[in-house]
Amino acid sequence: MLFTDLGLKAEILRAIAEQGYTEPTPIQQQAIPAVLAGRDLMGCAQTGTGKTAAFALPMLDRLSAAAPRRKGAVRALILTPTRELALQIGESFDAYGKYLKLRSTVIFGGVGQAPQVEAIRKGVDILIACPGRLNDLIGQGHIDLSDLEVFVLDEADRMLDMGFVHDVKKVIAKLPKQRQNLMFSATMPKEIEQLAAGILQDPA
Ligand code: AMP
Repeated sequence: MLFTDLGLKAEILRAIAEQGYTEPTPIQQQAIPAVLAGRDLMGCAQTGTGKTAAFALPMLDRLSAAAPRRKGAVRALILTPTRELALQIGESFDAYGKYLKLRSTVIFGGVGQAPQVEAIRKGVDILIACPGRLNDLIGQGHIDLSDLEVFVLDEADRMLDMGFVHDVKKVIAKLPKQRQNLMFSATMPKEIEQLAAGILQDPA
């Protein structure tokens, strides 16, 4: 299978070609059509399998094809457990979305919040965040997720291991009911299945 068989728009195919990718990886082959169709998804995949592009490419396609629910709204949120992962995902969205007009920013703790608040104030379509800092900024009134369209929970098993379950649930409580949900985990213990059951609707 080739990337050109997946139905992604030309601007995205061009960016992928520049990355040197020709064939989608197995998780990409399975996830991209489902996410493009608007379905919820449970992806069982580790880092290194191409899972970031598996969610980022179809998200960029859908977001760029439709107007936001509200002008200036945060349209997509990717929750990830560590600063390193957040930065990597941010770089991936920048690379794959370089020919699109969507804006993204990365939010994590351990550094001053002022530049992050300023980026949000200017308007972002896609927010890539670690749960602690995100809740801080929501609590201070800097971030409104009420018109979110897509929610991604990345590395869900590590989120649990790192004790972020409460923070994750607090974020989910701020999201609108009608949204697309994508969840990724390297392992599928019972706790992850339970968490998934509470988040995903009829997932692929
Ligand atoms: P990830 O699993 O998302 O951390 O991706 C692992 C690495 O694989 C990253 O460096 C990506 O740039 C790269 N990658 C993702 N998809 C592909 C692909 N279809 N072909 C070649 N490399 C890829």
